[in-house]
Amino acid sequence: MQLSSLHGAWLVVRRTSFCAFACTLGGMESERRARAAVYARVSQDRAEGRSVSEQEAESRRACANNGWAVAAVYADNDVSASRFTTKRRADWTRLVSDLDSGMFDVLVLWEPSRGSRDLVTWAALLDVCRRQKVLLHVTSHGRTYDPGNPRDWRTLADDGVDSAYESEKQSQRITRAMAANAKAGRPHGRVPYGYVRSYDPATKAFVGQEPDPETAAVVREIIGRVGRAEPVIAVSRDLNARGVRPPAARQWSRQHVRRIALNPSYAGLRLYAGESYEGTWPALVDAAEFYAAKRLLEDPARRKTKPGRNKYLLSYIARCGVCDEQLQAAPRGRAVPSYFCAGGHVQAGVAWLDALIEGVVLARLDDGELLARLTVADDEQAVAARAKIGELRERLAEWRDAAANGKASPASLAHIETNLLADIEVEERKVQRAGAPAALVDLLGADVIADRWRTLQVAQRREVVKVLGMAITLNRANASGRHAAGAYDRVAVEWPQP
Ligand SMILES: [Zn+2]
Repeated sequence: MQLSSLHGAWLVVRRTSFCAFACTLGGMESERRARAAVYARVSQDRAEGRSVSEQEAESRRACANNGWAVAAVYADNDVSASRFTTKRRADWTRLVSDLDSGMFDVLVLWEPSRGSRDLVTWAALLDVCRRQKVLLHVTSHGRTYDPGNPRDWRTLADDGVDSAYESEKQSQRITRAMAANAKAGRPHGRVPYGYVRSYDPATKAFVGQEPDPETAAVVREIIGRVGRAEPVIAVSRDLNARGVRPPAARQWSRQHVRRIALNPSYAGLRLYAGESYEGTWPALVDAAEFYAAKRLLEDPARRKTKPGRNKYLLSYIARCGVCDEQLQAAPRGRAVPSYFCAGGHVQAGVAWLDALIEGVVLARLDDGELLARLTVADDEQAVAARAKIGELRERLAEWRDAAANGKASPASLAHIETNLLADIEVEERKVQRAGAPAALVDLLGADVIADRWRTLQVAQRREVVKVLGMAITLNRANASGRHAAGAYDRVAVEWPQP
């Protein structure tokens, strides 16, 4: 009480001093009028409410009725004020800084939510007004508040809380709608390269998402080639060389190729909050192909920049027989490249070790039965895992329904949910692993495996070696001397148990 009356007294004193100032200057104005700032704002999402010009007109009338001089008008159109918006309100920022520099005595707003629905921003405004002794007039309330008055301040702060609460509720409604859309498998966001969307010509309602006759084949090619371990840079260069239309850019980049290969939309999947749902649109590739490409791109061993990573067949695959570290490869000191362990224990020429291992791999792959088993058995595993995922998801949905209907407690839902999600993750990893033999698919139909092998790039050959799962160890030479260095018994190859 005391504070507010003091504050009121101060305002009177200031007005008086302004009056004295004006009288000294010209004596025309008997009393200096309070300087008012008018702020108007309309957001896209609200059909009701007044337009910016209507708000301004009403606020100007309020100023005239109160004898305030409109010193400045600030307006933000089509911008949402909630904290969920990413757009910036240029005029709002300018207004707050002008208020803070003492340019105004009154701020006129249409309604508090027109000021700001973000509680922090609103509280900051009240703070500036209180500090600068600025009154706040809310046109729709037909009332003038003094933020320096604790009761007025509380009323304004409550209005801010209400607006923020509305905004939070709305955001939750949007989130729920998005989740419902995701679960129904409806597409979201921009149309992915490779698809077109159709809309009802009359109602403009979304009808469906269909493969684009021109670009769908490009998507299939990219995912197929990446899944077969072709380097991303080679794919993007080739697309550019052939003049294939890139997605919203002049040229294909590695990023374009990566983004397409990692986009689950192409496998007909809709991701939402870490879970995948069946989309309502046709897939361009099957899930096994998609996961094969994804697994390759997300392999942490590929992402690190390692010398000679994709240049040599066995770098970071073969290991040192002394320290078990992975061997690196580089032209070391002389022109002939060699594999070596960082600890300096072993070293061997690249050409020599590659020829030896290639011979072993090709002999292994000549066993058509093994090749068929490696490519088919995992396919079966993927089908089984996908069926299991569907089953687990259904159980999860049933539990969620039960909890929503009060038939299960939130605590038991949380427990079951954690377990089911973990099980789903295990099955999803199985599906991803099943994508591995893609590297072998190219070799599958070959009459002479060795001929087909020679057409593969080094990166693709490396994938074959990895898929076979062989452990290659390079041991120290038993005897010193030039001939001993090439001794075949230095190399141990172990096959995984079938
Ligand atoms: Zn070593």
